[in-house]
Amino acid sequence: MNDLPNGFTGYSGISPDFESAADAMRRSRAEAPQTSHVNTPSPMRSSAPDGAFQYTRDMSSGRRVQGELPFDLDRIDHLSTPERRWAWSEIDLGAIRHNVADVRRHLGSRTRLMAVVKADGYGHGAPEVSKVMLNAGADRLAVSNIDEAMQLRKAGVRAPILILAQPPASSIPLLLGYNVTPTIYNPEYAIAYAEAADLHGMKAPYHLAVNTGMNRIGVRFDEAVEFLYQVSFHRALELEGTFTHFATADDADPFEMQIQAKHFIEALQGMQAAGFDPGIVHAANTAATYRYPDVHFDMVRCGLALYGFHPCPETRDIADLKPAMSVHARITDTRFVPMSEGVSYGLHYRSPGSVKICTVPIGYADGLRRNLSGNTDFIMNGRYFRQVGNICMDQCMFEVDMRSYGTRERIDPQVGDEVIIVGSQGIAEVSIDEMAYKLDTIPYEIAIGFSHRLERVYV
Ligand SMILES: *Cc1c(COP(=O)(O)O)cnc(C)c1O
Repeated sequence: MNDLPNGFTGYSGISPDFESAADAMRRSRAEAPQTSHVNTPSPMRSSAPDGAFQYTRDMSSGRRVQGELPFDLDRIDHLSTPERRWAWSEIDLGAIRHNVADVRRHLGSRTRLMAVVKADGYGHGAPEVSKVMLNAGADRLAVSNIDEAMQLRKAGVRAPILILAQPPASSIPLLLGYNVTPTIYNPEYAIAYAEAADLHGMKAPYHLAVNTGMNRIGVRFDEAVEFLYQVSFHRALELEGTFTHFATADDADPFEMQIQAKHFIEALQGMQAAGFDPGIVHAANTAATYRYPDVHFDMVRCGLALYGFHPCPETRDIADLKPAMSVHARITDTRFVPMSEGVSYGLHYRSPGSVKICTVPIGYADGLRRNLSGNTDFIMNGRYFRQVGNICMDQCMFEVDMRSYGTRERIDPQVGDEVIIVGSQGIAEVSIDEMAYKLDTIPYEIAIGFSHRLERVYV
């Protein structure tokens, strides 16, 4: 293959199921109208909800004349979140700034920071948090697929964006059109991508994923040089970066991570010896960034820390992080429940008497995990109150002891009072880290779970 001329464009004969980039582009163009129709919200949706048109028609056929609506929908549509629904999440952008600065403090002056904003910014809203992170000192962004990248571009984000995996070949026109860099580990894919770029006189930058032991994606560390020999003839292809990912950076024992680091360095040395410039070299996620400065290379890729979470107990002594997400609700109903009567599905909780049971409009459909039933606290007036009964899809209950004893102040909760589901008030704190621990999972999953149904308020 070494004797192929630069700019060779006849690679399609190599593999029987190889689809040339030009074909891929033609096909995606042919499919485009249908796709864009499906994905574009109807213009009606943005001007007024469907129901509003229905309403106008109904009214015009009845006593009211057309256009004479009793409400100004444009105005009432914009009622703030806590006015529409008594459950919401708050994202503290100051905390995000603080966390970016904390990560930066642990980096050398020439080490770059790639902010990982996949999964809608770990459930915090990717466009909003990306802008703050870039402002606060992040250099680049990483996402997991082309849709996430396009969402950022459409929101006006201009920083370099890397997709942390190899997207389907049929999405290559989108990569080029939206100036999004793919991760690549398949030679035929690399050529398809380069061909498509070349067709338009563009460059085809990419990052090479090296598999050093996690066995998820990437070219095996001892085959990286071979990969580059296969693709480097193409004039459009540009190796912008080379990276690997650690499987055990959050593990107390550094042994496996060090083996991966060793394999990665072997691959880099091999590439350099063969005359290939690996570009921006990166490997460390949050745990590795804080725990192992010797694997920072040219850039670190942090997600978790920027949102204020710890990947493992070890980082608590090193990192100063503030959780950015809190979850809030207001009480929608209260009642005294006589002793021994049950509460919620299954009636598993029984009232001890002299308690007020308060209801809040948040449930597992919002991400408040049902397995936390009876095993999490809410906060009001800086004090903890026990969540009781099964957490329902859209609502759940908590208990307020109405007896007063000692110096403890008696609290009489009322409909409309604000309750903190996740967050802190005074010395009381309920954290996502703690919920993750109770549910035997990781904070990533809990944060992402606080779903889109909870509207986010940025503070
Ligand atoms: C998600 C991800 C990261 C970020 O990991 P954190 O633990 O959130 O810092 C970095 N690199 C890759 C490849 C990832 O998939």
